[in-house]
Amino acid sequence: MTTQPPKKRTILIIEDESDILEILKYNLSKNGFDVWMAESGEKGLEAASARLPDLILLDLMLPRMDGLEVCRRLRGQERTKAIPIIMLTAKGTEADIVLGLTLGADDYVPKPFSPIELLARIKAVLRRNEPGKAEAASAEVLTLGAIHLDAQRHEVSVNGEALTLTLSEFKLLRHLMQRRGRVFTRDQLLNAVVGPDVFVTERNIDVHVGALRRKLGDVGKLIITVRGVGYRMEEE
Ligand code: CA
Repeated sequence: MTTQPPKKRTILIIEDESDILEILKYNLSKNGFDVWMAESGEKGLEAASARLPDLILLDLMLPRMDGLEVCRRLRGQERTKAIPIIMLTAKGTEADIVLGLTLGADDYVPKPFSPIELLARIKAVLRRNEPGKAEAASAEVLTLGAIHLDAQRHEVSVNGEALTLTLSEFKLLRHLMQRRGRVFTRDQLLNAVVGPDVFVTERNIDVHVGALRRKLGDVGKLIITVRGVGYRMEEE
């Protein structure tokens, strides 16, 4: 019996700077990925739609059509809307990062990035998007370290000790645990916790996070503040 070699995962890089493209291609190819490159947003959109990569690395600073517009169009097309996107961003562009995440990007890596860090993020995003993980995200019982959350019973415990959470805190914790590792903007978390139609300020989510962290005690540190952007839950 012969076994098929595992299919290589494909990554489309959309970046106009050729030296960065070359470095990325070298590093990702070396790590077993099939790498495609596009030097503009327009070409990137074409390639994404024609070849459907497993993941897209999208530079936000592109001439003519910028990365945010590319992201918006990728998410707006049936064919490309589910392809995971990691944005490559510059320092001090938190507003763009927030917008990109709102448009549906999965993660971002600030430049200058270390190849190891980038590779870790790519693997994490691919892992989260594996078939079957979507079902895991809807699982009724979630465990992360010492935290145990039973959605059906509305129960949360840490090291076996039950916590008393408000409904908002419960929803917030559940949302973060279901999608651990992923960065959420304050606005996204508010939508998840109180719904899109309720008028509250984004800072309101900071109050919920603060209260939740206190109740979680030691493991509250698993909720990471991503400066200028939002929050994410540690993966392990
Ligand atoms: Ca660029």
